[in-house]
Amino acid sequence: MSKSLQAIRGMNDILPEQTPLWRYFEGTVARLLDNYGYRQIRMPIVEFTELFKRSIGEVTDIVEKEMYTFDDRNGDSLTLRPEGTASCVRAVLEHGISGGGQVQKLWYIGPMFRHERPQKGRYRQFHQIGLEVFNLEGPDIDAELIVMTWRLWGELGLRDAVKLELNSLGTSESRARYRDALVQFLSAHVDKLDEDSQRRLKTNPLRVLDTKNADTQAILVDAPKMADYLDDESRQHFEGLKARLDAAGIPYVLNPKLVRGLDYYSKTVFEWVTDKLGAQGTVCAGGRYDGLVEQMGGKPTPGVGFAMGIERLVLMLEALDKVPEELSRQVDVYLCAFGEAAELAALALSERVRDQLPNLRLQINAGAGSFKSQFKKADKSGALYALILGDDELAQQVVGFKPLRGQGEQQSIAWDALAAHLATCVVQG
Ligand code: ATP
Ligand code: MG
Repeated sequence: MSKSLQAIRGMNDILPEQTPLWRYFEGTVARLLDNYGYRQIRMPIVEFTELFKRSIGEVTDIVEKEMYTFDDRNGDSLTLRPEGTASCVRAVLEHGISGGGQVQKLWYIGPMFRHERPQKGRYRQFHQIGLEVFNLEGPDIDAELIVMTWRLWGELGLRDAVKLELNSLGTSESRARYRDALVQFLSAHVDKLDEDSQRRLKTNPLRVLDTKNADTQAILVDAPKMADYLDDESRQHFEGLKARLDAAGIPYVLNPKLVRGLDYYSKTVFEWVTDKLGAQGTVCAGGRYDGLVEQMGGKPTPGVGFAMGIERLVLMLEALDKVPEELSRQVDVYLCAFGEAAELAALALSERVRDQLPNLRLQINAGAGSFKSQFKKADKSGALYALILGDDELAQQVVGFKPLRGQGEQQSIAWDALAAHLATCVVQG
């Protein structure tokens, strides 16, 4: 196939074999968010480029080199969203839904776009479920976010495979003081820093802490520590969060080098990481951004949120064999009809059954080949039962009812009794 007719590198089709697992994951998260009182918001996928520059920050990796930016036909610079927080804050401001101090607990799901080097767990179109909470400034809400994700890992069977890393970046004032101290320290070693870190020293010095370069990491061992520069308020906030996590029995490790790649964070930052996915180990990341709404033209509004990468979590479920058994079965009952008259009756009969059992997964395969080939398909579908409708059954207004898994003889069921019979033998989710 010519290249222009293929999907763009790093942008994947999610095939029918994969969608049951995606829907299981998304459904589990959505139910949990409902239970905790979060409401879904849906934002556009494209925004003015300026929005991301202003919120994420000009000298972040995302804005510097990862955004899909283009001019639309009227010459406006637009960008495919690289993350959801900026759009969510924009929407909240635009609709005035938290300007008066109202608490908003919002979540969203959808594709994000970053021009990164594609590899396992890292794509150019990827998907996130994220949430944002506005107008709650205490550590209790930070704790709720973490407790909720901990419950999610529990439901998915992933608790043993993830680790929570925590840090506090303090207020913008204390961060500025720390930045100065760090710059002073690093400047004394500038010749020994890797090239990226030399550049970041000028543009975004905190990101140097994030370096993967071993020599730079060695220098950082003696660097000033953020914790020593925290203002009292941030320190208390952080202590409050840790106390709540301790009380809830959630293990965590403090990572003073955790800075996150985006400019808008303050106080709490956290990441859930795993060693089951190779280099792409962060499955959920977030933190507090108390200054962001104001920075974008709103009233001072505390905010906190996180986003999780759906691809990475789906990969984890697969790698750890945590895919629920029942996902392999997408059909409950498979109806095989033979002959023209039986096919007509099959359609009407299946609709009658659907009227009474709206959750039944019934597949009808009228008009497709011999008895043998239809039966093969019924078996392959994973269905628990096959229904057989040929001329004889039609004449008697019955169907043959044949268990496809395990024991059980074929029996004859009257059409009138079919729905009631199916209701007793198919457990419906
Ligand atoms: P990383 O350090 O892995 O690049 P990040 O800090 O850039 O992640 P965030 O912007 O915090 O990531 O996004 C939250 C989550 O979204 C990540 O933890 C990850 O699970 C997922 N994610 C981010 N970028 C990608 C990508 N290019 N492909 C797949 N998932 C991604
Ligand atoms: Mg990244």
